[in-house]
Amino acid sequence: MSTTEQRVAVVTGAARGIGAATAVRLAAEGRAVAVIDLDEAACKDTVEKITAAGGKAIAVGADVSDEAQVEAAVARIVEELGAPTILVNNAGVLRDNLLFKMSAADWDTVLNVHLRGSFLMTKAVQKHMVDAGFGRVVNLSSSSALGNRGQANYSAAKAGLQGFTKTLAIELGKFGITANAVAPGFIATEMTKATADRVGMGFEDFKKAAATQIPVQRVGEPEDIANAIAFFTGEAAGFVSGQVLYVAGGPLN
Ligand code: NAP
Repeated sequence: MSTTEQRVAVVTGAARGIGAATAVRLAAEGRAVAVIDLDEAACKDTVEKITAAGGKAIAVGADVSDEAQVEAAVARIVEELGAPTILVNNAGVLRDNLLFKMSAADWDTVLNVHLRGSFLMTKAVQKHMVDAGFGRVVNLSSSSALGNRGQANYSAAKAGLQGFTKTLAIELGKFGITANAVAPGFIATEMTKATADRVGMGFEDFKKAAATQIPVQRVGEPEDIANAIAFFTGEAAGFVSGQVLYVAGGPLN
């Protein structure tokens, strides 16, 4: 590809939250962005934000855990924007419960969206990266990968994504493709608001309480994560691969 050609980025779960902030940020970096979410109409705000700022984006409705929908979505992106060489696997859901109350269906839903979804999307996009001799994959892990009460399904999926990331880095490195994971701590989005609702707390009080446990004394914003993803997807990050970056306002281990 010539240096004047625009790289095509795909961000899943980008109708809102971290995905939306990432799509906007990557567009500001000059990428053409495919904004994927379950409901194509829900992607409108993100696409409009990008185009209003002079960027290029399309909305694509797809369930990342469905192989046929993933194949069709990637084919459409190739047709309408060009071959994608940047992929951010961000789509996610929660089905929190203590282990003894967790249904097998809630286990499957979480594992399917996060792990199977990231696998299917990466498999569909990597061939375009291999052809281009360039690729950047970023998977959204979480501080919950280290274990979190009520999240046996989610923490297993997020820890699984770290192993997936390292294996991608090993297998795809020789094609100019890097793979890294960003593991957010508490970020203010609909996802954390839903957790506040579930435990019966107002979101502002929930955020205030969380902030007291975070060294920088505030919760994260979606842009904090978009900034880290922008680094990993950048042209200059070609020697950084297989890493997990905790973006949590303090150290985690
Ligand atoms: P969010 O606000 O809930 O946004 C997630 C988006 O993903 C939603 O638009 C959702 O669509 C979409 N989605 C869900 N299932 C999908 C599927 N099968 N196919 C396509 N899209 C799907 O979440 P967020 O807080 O921005 O989180 C983004 C990512 O960061 C997730 O992977 C999450 O696990 C991770 N993360 C978040 C935090 C945090 O504190 N917020 C911390 C650590 C990690 P619907 O609305 O239609 O369901």
